[in-house]
Amino acid sequence: MTGPGPAPDPAEAAPALQVEHVSAAYGPYRALFDVTFAVPAGGIAALIGSNGAGKSTVARVVTGLLASTEGTVRVGGTDVTGMATYRIARLGCAHVPEGRGVFADLTVEENLKVLFRQKLGRKQVPDALARAYESFPILGSRRKQHGGTLSGGEQRILSLAKVLVAPPRLLVADEISLGLAPVMMDAIYDGLRRINAAGTALLIVEQQVDRVLEIASTAVVLEHGSVAYDGPADGALGAVEAVLASRGERAVAGVPGLGRAGSPAPGAPDGSAAGGSGS
Ligand code: ATP
Repeated sequence: MTGPGPAPDPAEAAPALQVEHVSAAYGPYRALFDVTFAVPAGGIAALIGSNGAGKSTVARVVTGLLASTEGTVRVGGTDVTGMATYRIARLGCAHVPEGRGVFADLTVEENLKVLFRQKLGRKQVPDALARAYESFPILGSRRKQHGGTLSGGEQRILSLAKVLVAPPRLLVADEISLGLAPVMMDAIYDGLRRINAAGTALLIVEQQVDRVLEIASTAVVLEHGSVAYDGPADGALGAVEAVLASRGERAVAGVPGLGRAGSPAPGAPDGSAAGGSGS
């Protein structure tokens, strides 16, 4: 592997991410049940499932935003269970949810410069800027625009450009293409491919099943907070169909209708009040 990928170390042989028997809850509401899967070093895994299936909860647990109630999370072989988010980030796990990490009052170029200076040093800034604009041409055309006035898709692309400057061991991309026009989605997926080519493993949380399965090598299908499928990406659609068939539903426009909400906590009357995904 060439380029500015993570320096080789013994942990490189370990999977980028191991989620083992993880359960999680929001107060009394249990959102994940015994979730187990792994993302190999440098691999691309899709995490799919319907609204409320628990995808974002997995992303939150992995990145330390939510503590698991049971189970273990390892990043590059290191046990990060219960660690603070900043420490997990230091171990090489980046999280790109919508619009995160963009300074609204700085221009696109200033946003990039601040980070490049910090990560690479002043001398490297012009080269790094040129590379960012080459990788993400849309940012070049918006370089003087303030971060806060960028569209949602453009902000997400700016977040990806920031990741690419120092590719982490693992990037958790949480619904990064949600609500975007196809052309913007192409730019996002192009960015994800570049980040992966620089050595970063990807866990892509996505509702656009067809799109993510084109780039993923493995897939995890969640249903009601449990793993319904964990295997090669090309087997995931069959698994989705099987889940739908078992519930008498059909997939609509690439978005599986696997279910609406996680299971209620013991004692809760039903999933609707606690879940409230509203779709
Ligand atoms: P979507 O695709 O709609 O974003 P998801 O698969 O990412 O869904 P999660 O956001 O992980 O689903 O939510 C899993 C379950 O946990 C849902 O039933 C949701 O309503 C519930 N939930 C999520 N966040 C909270 C919270 N802060 N407090 C209480 N319940 C929550």
